[in-house]
Amino acid sequence: MNDPHVLPPGKLIRLSELSTRGTDYCDDRDRAEAQFFALRDELAEWQHRLYAEGRRKLLVVLQATDAGGKDGAIRHVFRGVNPQGVVVTSFKAPTKVELDHDFLWRVHNAAPGAGMLGVFNRSHYEDVLVVRVDRLAPEEVWQARYEQINQFEKLLHDTGTTLLKFFLHISHEEQRERFQARVKDPSKNWKFSHEDLVKRRQWDAYQEAYDDMLNHCNTPWAPWRVIPADHKWYRNYAICRALVETFREMNPQYPPALPELSEVEVD
Ligand code: ATP
Ligand code: MG
Repeated sequence: MNDPHVLPPGKLIRLSELSTRGTDYCDDRDRAEAQFFALRDELAEWQHRLYAEGRRKLLVVLQATDAGGKDGAIRHVFRGVNPQGVVVTSFKAPTKVELDHDFLWRVHNAAPGAGMLGVFNRSHYEDVLVVRVDRLAPEEVWQARYEQINQFEKLLHDTGTTLLKFFLHISHEEQRERFQARVKDPSKNWKFSHEDLVKRRQWDAYQEAYDDMLNHCNTPWAPWRVIPADHKWYRNYAICRALVETFREMNPQYPPALPELSEVEVD
């Protein structure tokens, strides 16, 4: 598999040097959309097989700045899958009970079981992002988490989970336009909160935290993909393609028929 969005291992990256309008796969919207629809059908078929096989697991992690497109990506990419085999978990600010435990407790609990496709809308990475930027924990606590996350993801990997981590990369200007649309368009008002403007003012601090997250947690067993996400059509296509290519490699199979099944007569 040759995915241009996978971060090369061991190479330090800076988001500011990566394009938010990349066109590695395709620069033509119509062509990308046509291919996306075909890939989405294929994704549904693979997910069905993963579920039928009932052995391995796939975990998709989505991180992005606010208005980065996590919700839209989930809505579009997973439109055709069987809801019974897919669990989407949106991680919000931790509850009191969750805070009484280690930061991975609620995350591990949401990890997909055998045959399942799990999607994390935000994730354990919030514990090195918002926690760092808003100083919700001392530096030595969040610093230690990069390695704890790497080991946690290794455990998932070693026990049959394939991890696909996507960072949706949008520009400062694109975020402004999306927030503005949320303020102006009554059908989008509900997506806007004043908290968003606070986060926007923290843009630089977040970019730094994203850079560290990407560099510290880009492991062979769970590499990061940075998806240029200013164009929603490109974002959806790139995510779907990574998923389908991963599934082709995993190649989940329908379980073999029971012995002597061909002799069974149902009366
Ligand atoms: P989104 O912005 O992802 O579309 P939303 O706006 O519908 O989601 P919010 O309640 O705004 O929902 O988003 C979840 C909030 O929870 C975010 O501000 C995020 O930073 C926060 N959050 C998630 N995980 C943690 C964590 N571990 N510690 C503190 N805050 C967290
Ligand atoms: Mg929000």
